[in-house]
Amino acid sequence: MTATLPSHEVAAGVTTWLSAFGDALSAGDTAAAAALFTEDCFWRDLVAFTWNIKTLEGRAAIRAMLDQTLPWVHPRGWKITDGGEPAGAGGVVEAWIDFETAAGRGRGHLRLREGRCWTLLTTLDELRGHEERRGPTRPKGVERRANPARTTWLEDREQEASELGITEQPYVVIIGGGQAGIGLGARLRQLRVPAIIIDKRSRPGDQWRSRYKSLCLHDPVWYDHMPYLKFPDNWPVFSPKDKIADWLESYTKIMELNYWPDTEATTAAYDAKAGQWAVQVERDGELLVLRPAQLVLATGMSGRPNLPDFPGMDTFRGDQHHSSAHPGPGRYRGKRCVVIGSNNSAFDICGALWENGADVTMVQRSSTNIVRSATLMDIGLGALYSEEAVASGMTTDKADMVFASIPYRIMHQFQIPLYEQMRERDQEFYDRLEAAGFEHDWGDDGSGLFMKYLRRGSGYYIDVGAADLVANGDVALARGQVDRLTEDAVVLEDGTKLPADLVVYATGYQSMNGWAAELISQEVADRVGKCWGLGSDTTKDPGPWEGEQRNMWKPTQQQALWFHGGNLHQSRHYSLYLALQLKARQAGLPTPVYGLQEVHHLR
Ligand SMILES: Cc1cc2nc3c(=O)[nH]c(=O)nc-3n(C[C@H](O)[C@H](O)[C@H](O)COP(=O)(O)OP(=O)(O)OC[C@H]3O[C@@H](n4cnc5c(N)ncnc54)[C@H](O)[C@@H]3O)c2cc1C
Repeated sequence: MTATLPSHEVAAGVTTWLSAFGDALSAGDTAAAAALFTEDCFWRDLVAFTWNIKTLEGRAAIRAMLDQTLPWVHPRGWKITDGGEPAGAGGVVEAWIDFETAAGRGRGHLRLREGRCWTLLTTLDELRGHEERRGPTRPKGVERRANPARTTWLEDREQEASELGITEQPYVVIIGGGQAGIGLGARLRQLRVPAIIIDKRSRPGDQWRSRYKSLCLHDPVWYDHMPYLKFPDNWPVFSPKDKIADWLESYTKIMELNYWPDTEATTAAYDAKAGQWAVQVERDGELLVLRPAQLVLATGMSGRPNLPDFPGMDTFRGDQHHSSAHPGPGRYRGKRCVVIGSNNSAFDICGALWENGADVTMVQRSSTNIVRSATLMDIGLGALYSEEAVASGMTTDKADMVFASIPYRIMHQFQIPLYEQMRERDQEFYDRLEAAGFEHDWGDDGSGLFMKYLRRGSGYYIDVGAADLVANGDVALARGQVDRLTEDAVVLEDGTKLPADLVVYATGYQSMNGWAAELISQEVADRVGKCWGLGSDTTKDPGPWEGEQRNMWKPTQQQALWFHGGNLHQSRHYSLYLALQLKARQAGLPTPVYGLQEVHHLR
């Protein structure tokens, strides 16, 4: 077993592999390069080779990719990352690696089995000649010589704000100034790409402010950092929504972003000949056309409510709204509240209504995976995103790369044992929940909520206490499909009548290409197809297998149109690769895309 090999032998094995790999690539011998991989191998590339986000599965796919990309990539300089000692366990040797390409510098991760590569991750880290000015190359901030034409930082910022989008066109317009839009904006600013972020709301962070009162992030602080600027170490583990909103607002200032609040994009059209978008915006009531070369929709994966259309909704006399419009529990004390849905928002809203003295019923229409927050933190995220992980030397950057290094095709195999442990630890809790009639599942293949998130973006609850309310009957549970609404009740298909003063539709969100339909055209929305999901052929994630998340952070079937979003971790990490793709285009570098995804589903 490799676990018993001395560390110098482990390192020597990696060096031997890298040297053979580097030689084969330099010689253009793609057959030899592919032969260095195991038969069941994976190569996940984030922009470095493919100018795409792509996983190649198997030697033939790797060889085909190399045949096409090697002439322009010119990879070289493969080495073990300084200070990153390879480690071996369970027959697998892991190593962090560095390399270079014609365009820039890359980093990656390698897993070897019996001397051959099982998984390879390659990522583009920076573009040569367009490096970010950080650390030793940071801006001076001041000119230490007499200069009668001296301007201050503030004057420069004001001048930029008065010109960009008015007399000078930005290279990129980002529609949506939530965490995704501003994180990408920060990266583009560091890369000196002129960009404007527009948002129809009045203040950065308003998307979080507008959400139900009781909301705190479900993910812990170590998972949630924005690019460049980490939360201070007194930041709560689970950030209250208004606190994260204030952080995002401060972030836009600190990172010097060109952020246009109160600005709504109404339409966008691409002129392929001119290589330019015309984005109509209404800014503080004034109509304006922005003409960027690239358009990013960062309008939110949880931004387009999926509002059901039940017969009788128009006759219901109480309050009814989608969970995204739920104002909080205050006005529903003593009222009969029916919450349709059984995932995160539904549980959070049921819990807050119950705490405020409402009579609450949850309607469960399909099964849900519930994991207790503390258990998920310990078993699911602890190794990478926790105080203990930080103490053991784990950085956010490294944790993100570890996550990225696991190909989606086999990620469930890594997840299943974790969820088995979670089930075991909280068996008594699940027994109580199921005894209360709650339909619980662990995902189609037992891989739990993280895979559900990646595959379908729904179907789970990270329990922060509300599940107990259902288990012990404080929140009543009704199961089944909704047949109709009457003036004062929700009626289920089995005839159960649930009297209601309030109905909350916690029924999720629509695919992000709906934003493209709304802003650009149905034709463009259909051309790019569904966003999100892996094609895993599991519930709500129809095949065929895609290998990567549909349309996210990578070129789409519509030239110069990009989608950005996801949770805080994904927005943080993948904004780097999207920013580099945009920068390369702005700098006029060749960016031949390998394996542009095909479209299999429209929504
Ligand atoms: C209840 C809930 C809890 C969540 N909890 C977590 C969590 O714990 N951890 C986590 O990582 N993620 C969580 N998420 C998921 C995700 O992080 C959030 O949805 C987050 O807000 C997504 O950020 P975003 O920037 O992609 O989109 P959003 O925050 O939705 O921002 C999109 C912006 O686009 C703007 N916009 C839309 N259309 C236009 C237009 N035409 N013109 C101008 N502006 C426009 C909107 O005003 C909005 O501000 C949660 C989501 C929900 C709904």
